[in-house]
Amino acid sequence: MPTPQPRHDHQPAHAAYARRFLLKADSSRQLALLDLQAVDSRLDQIAHATSNLPQHREVAALEDETRTVDTQLVNARTALSDVQREVDKAESDVQLVRDRAARDRTRLEAGTGSAKDLQALQHELTSLARRQAELEDVELEVMERAESLGEHVTTLEALRDDLAARLEAAVAHRDAAMGEYATERDRVAGRREAVFGGVGDDLVALYERIRSSHGGVGAAELKQRRCGGCHIELNQVDMNRITKAPADEVLRCEECGRILVRTAQSGLGAAGSTT
Ligand SMILES: [Zn+2]
Repeated sequence: MPTPQPRHDHQPAHAAYARRFLLKADSSRQLALLDLQAVDSRLDQIAHATSNLPQHREVAALEDETRTVDTQLVNARTALSDVQREVDKAESDVQLVRDRAARDRTRLEAGTGSAKDLQALQHELTSLARRQAELEDVELEVMERAESLGEHVTTLEALRDDLAARLEAAVAHRDAAMGEYATERDRVAGRREAVFGGVGDDLVALYERIRSSHGGVGAAELKQRRCGGCHIELNQVDMNRITKAPADEVLRCEECGRILVRTAQSGLGAAGSTT
């Protein structure tokens, strides 16, 4: 005849119950934990607000724009200096032809040489005049390009100056906003130091563990029969058990697992029993 196996149906629930109610901490420590949670929530909000300031986006956009204009400015200045060299070259080409024509005219006016020589000079002067006109057209064209590029550089420099001023203002706005948050963070962090000591290491350790996996909220007030963490209303069975639980038992929400702290607003009548 086989020996009947012992049943353990109630053991897991019992173990969970034991684990849930393992920690003891008197009421004042539990209330201090709510203060700690409030402080930590505010610190989280400040950190979130600080890294999501609209001023960060404004500064980043202006920095992007500045980089783009800087690149355009470098390209425009390079193009301008290239064209400036073309202008110098065109000017010296024109000057060469002018000098040559001047020499030819001097010789022609001196009237020295054969009639054939003088005729050749005359002929050369005609072709030099034509050549000079062509070169002056080239010179004019590159000068116009240089002027247009120069205007482009001036426009970009003005845009760059305007961006620099706007960026400076945006950075100042951002720093001012960051400064306000930093001041509040320091003040709240100072309060955390004070509150922390009143909670006790064991309760803080449990709270931190739950908080890290529960969206930053490790402890919540039981308020009007609702868990302040998940906002679910507790059923009558849980409320009865909580009402009977000694005041120094650290309770956990059945729904979300957060530490549930009883206060005068919990809806327990005489808030928790005394130990
Ligand atoms: Zn809950």
